[in-house]
Amino acid sequence: MTDRKDELAANLAKVEQRIAAACAAAGREREEVTLIVVTKTYPASDVRILSELGVRHVAENKDQDAAPKAAECSDLPLTWHFVGQLQTNKVRSVVGYADLVQSVDRSKLVTALSKEAVKAERDVGCLIQVALDAGSSERGERGGVAPGGIGELAGLVARAPGLRLDGLMTVAPLTGEYAGREQAAFERLMDLSTDLRRDHPAANMVSAGMSADLEQAVAAGATHVRVGTAVLGVRPRLG
Ligand SMILES: *Cc1c(COP(=O)(O)O)cnc(C)c1O
Repeated sequence: MTDRKDELAANLAKVEQRIAAACAAAGREREEVTLIVVTKTYPASDVRILSELGVRHVAENKDQDAAPKAAECSDLPLTWHFVGQLQTNKVRSVVGYADLVQSVDRSKLVTALSKEAVKAERDVGCLIQVALDAGSSERGERGGVAPGGIGELAGLVARAPGLRLDGLMTVAPLTGEYAGREQAAFERLMDLSTDLRRDHPAANMVSAGMSADLEQAVAAGATHVRVGTAVLGVRPRLG
């Protein structure tokens, strides 16, 4: 193995161990939690290595980096998640490679995603990104809709051609009542998921938890964790 492959294999093994331990502690089956490796800022060669090591889900947050990387890796058996704030002028490109968009947070974005998904004859899974630090009708600082806006947005996605409502996503807030209380934040997301599933029973994905707080997310009931740094290393630049 190359040095980089050794390094990624060792990091993956550690993350896998953390997820397994968190599942055991929560009385959950390991299979209930899917690892998504966030490959933003890292090259396509790393994505290729991760695929060789058995990773099946990767995530990116900037279309300009993601689009060429996904093209270079189009031969790999990977599911691509888009997790960044998404401008409508990037939607056409993102729909070209993203199997899921986890950052759906406004109606304009739903309209644009639906239009481009239909045009490209793609089915795009959508997660509503929830901002737990936002006021009742605001959007979060790092994207996301306030909890009060989930129902309306979910209805729009569910009715939109080319889109599939898959569930909810959040990033633990840095401000507001949940600052520093990751597990409470993720438990709140689970409650919101329970509400959502009354109207949309198939929308059962709960994407929460990153390198620093995946244990809290697993404890709260997350179905998907998004891990970057702990697998790939500290990012060379902000992203
Ligand atoms: C970068 C990013 C992650 C991964 O964060 P790490 O701390 O590197 O694990 C997860 N989710 C989103 C939305 C991100 O932008």
